[in-house]
Amino acid sequence: MQDKPATEVRTTCPYCGVGCGVLARVAADGQIAVRGDPDHPANVGKLCSKGMALGETMGIEGRLLEPEIGGQPASWAAALDLVADKFTETIAQHGPDAVAFYVSGQLLTEDYYVANKLMKGFVGSGNIDTNSRLCMASSVAGHRRAFGEDVVPGTYEDLEEADLVVLVGSNTAWCHPILYQRLLAARSERGTKVIVIDPRRTATVEECDLHLQIDPGTDVLLFNGLLAHLEAAGRIDRPFVSAFTTGFEDAVSVARAEVSSLEHVALACGLSVAELRHFYELFAAKERTVTVYSQGVNQSAHGTDKVNAIINCHLATDRIGRPGMGPFSVTGQPNAMGGREVGGLANQLAAHMDFNAADIERVSRFWNAPDIARKPGLKAVDMFDAVARGSIKALWIMGTNPAVSMPDAGAVRKALNSCAFVVVSDVTRTDTTRYADVLLPAAGWGEKDGTVTNSERRVSRQRPFMPAPGEARADWRIIRDVAHRMGHGEAFAYAGPADIFREHAALSTFENDGARLFDIGDVADISNSRYETFAPRHWPMARTGAPRARLLGDGRFPTADGRARFVAVRHAGVALATSQARPIGLNSGRLRDQWHTMTRTGHVPRLASNAPEPSLEIAPSDAAAYGLVDGDLAEIASAFGTARAKIRITADQKPGTAFLPMHWSGQFAANAGAGSLFAPVVDPVSGQPELKHVPVRISREAVAWSGLLITRRDIRPVGFVHWSRHKVEGGWVYELCGTELADQGILLASGLLDPVGHAQMVEYADRRGYGYRAAAIDEDGALKEALFVAPSRQLPSRDWLLSLLATRTQLSLADRLALLSGRSPVPMPAAGRIICACFNVGENQIAEAVARGSATVDEIGRNLQAGTNCGSCRSEIRKFLHEDRLQAAE
Ligand code: SF4
Repeated sequence: MQDKPATEVRTTCPYCGVGCGVLARVAADGQIAVRGDPDHPANVGKLCSKGMALGETMGIEGRLLEPEIGGQPASWAAALDLVADKFTETIAQHGPDAVAFYVSGQLLTEDYYVANKLMKGFVGSGNIDTNSRLCMASSVAGHRRAFGEDVVPGTYEDLEEADLVVLVGSNTAWCHPILYQRLLAARSERGTKVIVIDPRRTATVEECDLHLQIDPGTDVLLFNGLLAHLEAAGRIDRPFVSAFTTGFEDAVSVARAEVSSLEHVALACGLSVAELRHFYELFAAKERTVTVYSQGVNQSAHGTDKVNAIINCHLATDRIGRPGMGPFSVTGQPNAMGGREVGGLANQLAAHMDFNAADIERVSRFWNAPDIARKPGLKAVDMFDAVARGSIKALWIMGTNPAVSMPDAGAVRKALNSCAFVVVSDVTRTDTTRYADVLLPAAGWGEKDGTVTNSERRVSRQRPFMPAPGEARADWRIIRDVAHRMGHGEAFAYAGPADIFREHAALSTFENDGARLFDIGDVADISNSRYETFAPRHWPMARTGAPRARLLGDGRFPTADGRARFVAVRHAGVALATSQARPIGLNSGRLRDQWHTMTRTGHVPRLASNAPEPSLEIAPSDAAAYGLVDGDLAEIASAFGTARAKIRITADQKPGTAFLPMHWSGQFAANAGAGSLFAPVVDPVSGQPELKHVPVRISREAVAWSGLLITRRDIRPVGFVHWSRHKVEGGWVYELCGTELADQGILLASGLLDPVGHAQMVEYADRRGYGYRAAAIDEDGALKEALFVAPSRQLPSRDWLLSLLATRTQLSLADRLALLSGRSPVPMPAAGRIICACFNVGENQIAEAVARGSATVDEIGRNLQAGTNCGSCRSEIRKFLHEDRLQAAE
């Protein structure tokens, strides 16, 4: 009898704020198969490279499987008792503000709701903040200043219905790939103009009509210049402005005063007059304009002003909440929006309510929580400062890795080390879990059950399709069980996520006469079975009135007087200027195939193959000035910390700037974390830290030798000036560097190679012992591990060795003789660095296709499949073709 095919479960991708629908199933052999959900409106069947690889992230490698107390296995009962006792005791002795929760956009809305209710409603402190503070708090603050409520007015369709899309500080091609592909598909139909405003030449720039490579921190001036231009060009919608807004005259007069001429703005922003004029004239001419912005705008000491400078231009032209127009903040995390709905930010209450007397009283009555917090809590950076000072004495971190991701991460690690009681609930071990007094294993994607809200306010279900491993539990359940032990059983009597969702929906509509746009009262009575089958829907979902996908287009705003507010904003530049001592402005951000601190994506070989090592990107002129060449090891030093990464010279980087990816934690490299370098300087309104600019000094490390270890084992090298590792099929690759020739190969081998478990070792050492090659072969005659050490960077080619590791092929005599050369005894084509992660197509294959006559991205797609699935690599292929043409022309 044939096995019945496993049923596909409809769920949502856990990576970015696009919120793509996923169909997942567990096959009979235990493999997880995923595909894009053709019925989900966000992605209509497509997935990007990260989404496509979701099934490969579901192994239990690195998973937390049981609670731990003081590093030792413990029962759930003991662990939960201890958490509840310590929090209760701390609150009793030092008051409610002596405890805090630091949570995550990874939590589902139901988890978030329960955490917020416990801290704000029943502990009585506002001290719950989220890693979304690092991601989009400035957008929230900008929305609240302009609209009165945290509302994204538009939908993804607006990008498809626009004639002009302006992408500000947003590498959409890599960070929101499916949304970007939707834009490109629509653009080929309607000829949408695309402008990218970014100090870096990112992958997104490859497809745009105009790239404004502004200097860091000049966005406010750029948009103030636009507002002044719109006024001078007679493009202000005066009837709309006078009927539906306030503050225009103040905003425009500040803009006018700052902008003496087009030439002045161009010079200050680092642009040419022609390109600036082109942008302003295009914006003025195209009514259907959407301005998309994300971390490049938000992660700034003046992020809220940047957001309002953008919104001002949309309000001035009445381009808001109507088809194909509006300001559009896209979020980095899958449920940053859900967290905003339930009050996951320390300065908001719940259901978009504030810390004002009426809202506090309303939520207090709804929750029956007389001890509710009456003032906002500490935002992320202030929260960890308070931990460092000792005023927060018990901290619970849920699903996030602040030891890596926070600015001035070294100080955060010290704070965690000094904190009297730290609880961490998470899916895997991270750099943060090592500070936990109590470690709680949480359920991960594919095991969790609840809802998330994407960047266009669409609520979707995440559904489980497999049991959580070991003793891992859902976050809402862990928090509920602690609440019970703290004496709040009645208020937290939830049997499942549907109970929580109903209460969340009921609060949104409670005493809501339309003043709060966040109203999902229509689902406040949803049955368990309807919750199970809930299909993606935009909020609001009010009980009365017609459903609306777009908001604010009717000119009614959720402010006290019903009018939108212009905010007069002034150009203030970056918080910390470069200097002779630190002449380079460092930027940080994401790579195409990695996510956050690599806790999930770092274990997938094909996601590591495009950018396997942490690299510092710098401009050719800066490299020349500092005597750096590609592949050099550089030390990057700010006033807050140091990091090391390999140099990558690229004309994409503006002179005077550099870029370091945000992903590498201590799990994947010795010291390549960008967070340690950034200043704990925050936006005064949103509290969001500046993670896009910090002055640094870059210097070359004198590397005496380089090493390469290819092994089946998962190890953490110690004592090297630099190492990094990446996952490959069948094991790991370690890149090693040393500054002392005394670290000769033979010594390295004794520390790194596995002394047991191999049947044969072949090795070679040069006369001085500086060069060393060794390979261990197992009992079955297959390659177990290999170590290569060279005083220069002359390490062997690795493609063949990696194929041996992956396949565990029994080695022939010829293979054994060839092992130490790293070269296959029979010719073997090398794919090179992987460009298309979906179909595993490398740069050598693309180069060959180009040499054979493929002249366009589509032709390469037809020949190699590259770029034909998620499309995330198309811009890299285009760049490849572009560079090839340039070389041919030389
Ligand atoms: Fe996931 Fe990619 Fe969709 Fe983002 S764009 S939700 S990472 S599949």
